[in-house]
Amino acid sequence: MKKYDYLLLRFGELTLKGRNRARFEKAAVEHVRALLRPYPDAKVRREFGRVYVDPGSESVETLIPVLQNVFGMTSMSPVRAVRPELDEIVRAAGELIEAMELTEELTFKTNVRRVWKDFPHPTHEANPLIASPLLKRFPLLKVDMHDPKLELRIEIRDKAAYVYGEVIPGAGGFPLGTNGKALLLLSGGIDSPVAGWSALRRGLEVECIHFHSYPFTSEKAKEKVIDLAQVLAEYAGKVRLHIVPFTEVQTSFTQMGQDNLMITLMRRSMLRIATKIAEREKALALVTGESLGQVASQTLPSMNVIERATELPILRPLVMTDKDEIIRISRQIGTYDISILPYEDCCTLFVPKSPTTNPNLRIVNKVEAVTPNLERLIEEAADGTETIELFAGGSRLRREETDQEADIKQEWF
Ligand code: ATP
Ligand code: MG
Repeated sequence: MKKYDYLLLRFGELTLKGRNRARFEKAAVEHVRALLRPYPDAKVRREFGRVYVDPGSESVETLIPVLQNVFGMTSMSPVRAVRPELDEIVRAAGELIEAMELTEELTFKTNVRRVWKDFPHPTHEANPLIASPLLKRFPLLKVDMHDPKLELRIEIRDKAAYVYGEVIPGAGGFPLGTNGKALLLLSGGIDSPVAGWSALRRGLEVECIHFHSYPFTSEKAKEKVIDLAQVLAEYAGKVRLHIVPFTEVQTSFTQMGQDNLMITLMRRSMLRIATKIAEREKALALVTGESLGQVASQTLPSMNVIERATELPILRPLVMTDKDEIIRISRQIGTYDISILPYEDCCTLFVPKSPTTNPNLRIVNKVEAVTPNLERLIEEAADGTETIELFAGGSRLRREETDQEADIKQEWF
């Protein structure tokens, strides 16, 4: 016997009224559909202002972890649907409790909602009529009207009664892409992929930019970043990754005799190039994996000097987050094992012995002004950017491939 018939999905923060609500719901349902694509038998249904997933031949248990990646969804409940008759409801409720295999006392209450007014028992009668046989059958159940561990909900409609009790947490945040587009500075480290996931979860459409310093950094380092972007694509359905040839810009600073400012200068150039790409791609903000105080370039004075290189807002989802917590999320989202692979990223190679934690903006401006051809090198790096499109399920597309091909894969999403 199938234990559950549907999954009921709840979208909590979508309290906005009017047009926005409809837009948010549409984006959320599209995301559900995208994530369910590998399970063609599972169907999404919108009914009574709710979103249900009918698992078809799939099991609800298989779909739960998949649907926990739907952004904007606060929680979900596996639901039994039965004929709207008292004994059917009691039987379904009994099966749900039986499946919990109680070994200790469980406080509970029933919560009946009678939407179908021809159901013969009004709510105040239906609640005890359902609860009493359950209490008799399961001695470990105890009624608690105020703060029960299990709130057994019964929604009675004319075609069916829905019975559910379990509430499984969702990813939360906002539906995918409903808060506009941002450009994520994606390194090969632990932090920036987590920042990217946080941005996606908060309803941003994310494109990624990576600065690559071949031959100082290997092809492997680049592949690693592509793999990280691929993980983000699994959550988003699709992600574009812009890979910037950064070698010329980076080496132009090595001759300036300002070793301790190296990181500051590199970061500012990254931001300048990222800003150009963001403008081209119509992204309204940059996202980084910076976390306050984590390294020399992430002190407040450093951030202050670095971020003046762009007029775009810089979003730092992890700025107040401890490393332990960042690592926990990176494990949870599946980027950790890739991030800890050893390949150097372009900054570690050029890290001076004592990078400044307190750069002087005036000096930084001066050094940039006298760095030969800096403006041109930045322009060339931006122009030389290669773009890859990554799709959930692992397919990949280079920008140069035909538009027709791109359209076909786009439909996938
Ligand atoms: P991460 O784990 O994300 O690399 P980190 O703690 O190593 O972070 P830094 O290396 O100082 O920090 O980088 C700070 C931020 O700058 C990164 O989170 C990322 O957003 C950006 N960044 C650094 N290097 C690159 C790069 N090569 N390409 C793109 N972005 C980068
Ligand atoms: Mg790093």
